[in-house]
Amino acid sequence: MSQKSYDYIICGAGCAGLTFLYEIIPYANTANKKILVIDNSSKQENDRTWCFWEKDTSTYENLVTNQWDNLVFSENSISQTLNIEPYKYKMIRGIDFYNHIINFAKDYTNIDFIQTEIIEVSNASGKAVVKTTSNEFFSEYVFNSILFDKKIIETKNSLLQHFKGIVIETPHTAFNPKQATFMDFTVNQNNGLTFMYVLPMSSTKALVEYTLFTKNILKDEDYDEALKKYINKNLQITDYKILHSEFGIIPMTDYKFPTQKGNIINIGTAAGCVKPSSGFAFKFIQKHIKQIVTQLQKGKAPIIENTFNDKKFRLYDSVLLEVLAQNKMNGSDVFAAIFKKNPPQRVLKFLDNETTLLEDLKIMSSVPMKIFLPIALKKLFTNK
Ligand SMILES: Cc1cc2nc3c(=O)[nH]c(=O)nc-3n(C[C@H](O)[C@H](O)[C@H](O)COP(=O)(O)OP(=O)(O)OC[C@H]3O[C@@H](n4cnc5c(N)ncnc54)[C@H](O)[C@@H]3O)c2cc1C
Repeated sequence: MSQKSYDYIICGAGCAGLTFLYEIIPYANTANKKILVIDNSSKQENDRTWCFWEKDTSTYENLVTNQWDNLVFSENSISQTLNIEPYKYKMIRGIDFYNHIINFAKDYTNIDFIQTEIIEVSNASGKAVVKTTSNEFFSEYVFNSILFDKKIIETKNSLLQHFKGIVIETPHTAFNPKQATFMDFTVNQNNGLTFMYVLPMSSTKALVEYTLFTKNILKDEDYDEALKKYINKNLQITDYKILHSEFGIIPMTDYKFPTQKGNIINIGTAAGCVKPSSGFAFKFIQKHIKQIVTQLQKGKAPIIENTFNDKKFRLYDSVLLEVLAQNKMNGSDVFAAIFKKNPPQRVLKFLDNETTLLEDLKIMSSVPMKIFLPIALKKLFTNK
């Protein structure tokens, strides 16, 4: 077993690991830091599509394949088309993101890539240690995005956001590429909170995704059946071909993910960057990584303390999660009430953890306080 030392080791070259790599390169280059990136996959597969909203230009603007100013929200009693400007809802394909960063990094001689299985990350003698199937590596810091113990997320109020998405192409015009369906709740809610998501890439091509927030995942054929039914009945499309498919399971939990242990700094899902009540993570990961890199550039330890704002939104997420996980209110009614009674910009700002207390109160007054307030008070005073 050979042993080698680096300044930084990145465990997992997914969204968080590659974002860290991309952001740290300028500093690592001038400060002469040696970096090792380890992943067990080749990152050659388009395994996910990221969507997020933002007002400004993205760091990855050249990778944005589609963007929309209008989002459709539907449930049985109402269908609203919401203009979200100055926000734009944007889409980036996973494979474009992986290729962009890996190709960029390949020009730097201070960066090594290894494709292998990581078995363990630990601390020893003031260094972080990464054990793979055949080697051991040491570094000042490990930036870890691997969730080694998936069981930790099974807390009382945990749900899984699970979904299957397919990109379909039709021979004739079938979609309005100017608007994306953000949540369509007009589908069967028997399993729990369930919605469809339709992102038109052109008038003949769209990503259609069947999403559920429930305790357990479904059988493969259940996702396929639901997608087929929706495409036939709701979208009224019978003639189409499937160009791509993706499946995902995202933890929705108020488990407090450890962000650091000695010289191991967790990033991405492993650091709790997935918003518990929505499953959105892409922008939270970008924000967290930027904070870490700023610390390193200042010569400080890459440890990010929780702010009052973080704690405030953690409480809100935990309350909503308990309402959903314990079926205290129908999930589609919660989201419908929020979207009906607030401008979409305020809702998006709230989901970004960026609203002021006054704006929070406006969002909260949209949902029945007799359900939400006792849970919030219990959590505030008992920390449970
Ligand atoms: C299909 C899908 C679609 C999503 N869509 C959105 C979206 O639209 N918007 C949004 O905000 N969020 C979305 N998410 C949630 C979140 O943004 C992603 O999961 C994101 O990729 C999380 O980043 P990460 O770096 O934590 O994990 P990952 O991107 O999964 O990276 C982890 C990396 O670690 C590697 N790895 C794992 N175990 C080992 C091991 N033992 N040894 C070596 N390497 C290992 C994996 O190969 C992977 O490359 C989506 C998630 C999925 C699964």
